[in-house]
Formats: sequence, structure tokens, C-alpha cells
Amino acid sequence: MQYDWYNTQIKQRLRELKSLRDIDDSKEIRIAISACEAQLGYRKPHSKKEPSARDLYLSEYLEFKKYNMIWPDLKKFASLGSKGITFDVEKSKIALEPSQMFEMTHDFFRDATPQKTFEDFLHFYKNRRKDVHFITNSPESLYAESFYLPYYREHFIQMIPRNEFGDLSTLSHEYGHGIQFLNNYCQKWFSRNSLFIEIISTFYEFLTLIHYSHNGEYQEAATMALLDNWEEMKYAAGNINTFLTYTDLMGLNECANKYELVKEIDSFIKEFGPTNIAEISKEDGLISDNIIYVFAASIVCQLLNIYYEDPDKAFYYANKLMMIRPTLSPEEFYEEILNVGIFPNDGFIQFEEHMKRELTRFS
Ligand SMILES: [Zn+2]
Repeated sequence: MQYDWYNTQIKQRLRELKSLRDIDDSKEIRIAISACEAQLGYRKPHSKKEPSARDLYLSEYLEFKKYNMIWPDLKKFASLGSKGITFDVEKSKIALEPSQMFEMTHDFFRDATPQKTFEDFLHFYKNRRKDVHFITNSPESLYAESFYLPYYREHFIQMIPRNEFGDLSTLSHEYGHGIQFLNNYCQKWFSRNSLFIEIISTFYEFLTLIHYSHNGEYQEAATMALLDNWEEMKYAAGNINTFLTYTDLMGLNECANKYELVKEIDSFIKEFGPTNIAEISKEDGLISDNIIYVFAASIVCQLLNIYYEDPDKAFYYANKLMMIRPTLSPEEFYEEILNVGIFPNDGFIQFEEHMKRELTRFS
């Protein structure tokens, strides 16, 4: 089976839903139909033409601007990151078979999360043979993605394993999305509040590795994968910080319209050449794509510090975060996160120190 597996499933469901609508035109069915349609229209064909440095910078800037309320957090995360420890992590090339990944994900949710979370997980897990697809041969650069289908309460996952231990935590991450949407589904997650969509999934992703860094035969592999994930987040945060620094330098935030933005970017390029930003984007994909992950990590590090002290409390907070209404405005949503008592970046140093100690177990 190939890469189009995912959308084939969704197309089939869409056909069913449309015939269901003829007999039951309920809100639930209409929401499910529009979720399918949004997903099927989602994958844009790749443009053949390479964008110019100016076009690339401009589109990145406009994407960043959507998130300007958290720029201070992103900057702080990045600067803390550069002051932190840089682990020299040997990528753990322990490849797990799909059956092993399933089993270990299952055991993690059973042994290390509250009963309710485990039950939510089981709701999807029982259909794993039908709903989860591992792609072994694909030209796409995709790592993993999932799609929650309301009404049926189904969750499809497709993933191209990298054949490293971290694949396990990626599977948990995707299940985390399923659990989140099973409890609090709204299409506003994907439009208005996509900034907050990765918090719960990232929490379960890291937690899986923390669990296996203390249990079973893969303790070292899990610890290394955990550090590797963390280093990746810091690297992404560093790119974001570089971008914001250039943006400040050009004074883009003072520009009143697109014409002025283009003028500033052009004069910058004229003076300094196409910036290395264009180079970063070419190598690692769009910088703005990583904002939601870096922001999630800035919150999750604090949740994990709480977890080390008191797991129940961490799950209690995570649950509160999961249930924040995605119909709020992004500003209100952010305010709600702070009201829960979770402050982005607050636990960054502490989390790094913790991992540094963990590392000594294997040296
Ligand atoms: Zn995700």
C-alpha cells in the first residue's frame, strides 16, 4: 500500500457520510463531512518553481505574524536553548517492528497514564490493524500524520518510520492527538487555534520516552531518543530566533502594508545578499512550520517537571489544558493556559538539568 492510503480511507468515509446526510441531516454529520473535505483539499500540489528569497521571506513573515503574541516566549525558549547544554547524542538506530511499537505504546498508556486516558487510548488501539498504516516505501518527506473523524470517532494514522527508537514516541504523539480530539473536538483547532494543537501530543511523546528510560530493556535507547527530541526542538527554536532577529533588524513590524514589507526586505537583500534565512528554509523546510512544535515544547517541559515530582498533578494539568475550548480567540486561549498555572519556558533549565543527570546513568 502506498502513500494515498490515508486519503482513500477518508474518501470512502466521505461517500458514506454524504449518503447518511440524506436521511439524517444532523450537525454532527455536517461537521464530519466538512472535516473530510478539509483534509482532502489540504495537500497542496508542490509548486515546481523555487520561490525567490524575497517571496520566501515575506510568506514566512506573514505566517509568523499570526503568532506575534507568543514571540517573546519563542525568543526566550531559543535564547535559553543556546545557553543550555548541547548533548552529543548518538542517534539511536534501534529499529522497532510495528508490532513492537504497538505493544510498547499500549504498555506505556496502560502502565504510565491514568485509567481514563488508557481507556481513550484503547478506543483507538482496538482498531489499530485497520486504522494505522506504516508506509515503508515512499518518496514523500512525511514522518507521521493523523486524522480524527468525528461522528465515527475514528482516528487514522499514517507514518513512515525512520527506523530509530524515537519512532515509538511519534506513534504515541499521534495517539495523543486522537485522545485530545476524542475529548474535545472542534474544527477551530485547525483554523483559529492551531498554535495550541501540539501540546497534548507532545506531552505523550516525551512521556513515552521518559517511561521507557526507566523501564525495560531499552532504557539507554529511550534516554538518547529523549535527548535527541529535545535537541531537535532547541535547534528549531534557534532558527526561529534567527528569523525574529532579522525581522527586528529590518523593522518589518513597523511596516503598514505589504508594499512596505516588500520594500524593506528588498533593500535588506540588496545590502546583505539573500539572507541565510533562505538557506535555512531550503534545508530544513519552512521555519514557521515549527512554531507550533516549539511553543508546545516550551509548555511541555514544565508539565514534565511537574510529572517528575507528582505524576497525578501533571496529568491533572494536562487534562485541563486539553479541555480548553478551541472556540476561544488565541489570546483568550493563551490566557487560559496561564490560568491553569502553566507558564511557557518556566521549567526549561530544570528540565535540562534533569536530563543531564539522566545521561550520567549511561556514561
Ligand atoms: Zn502532532
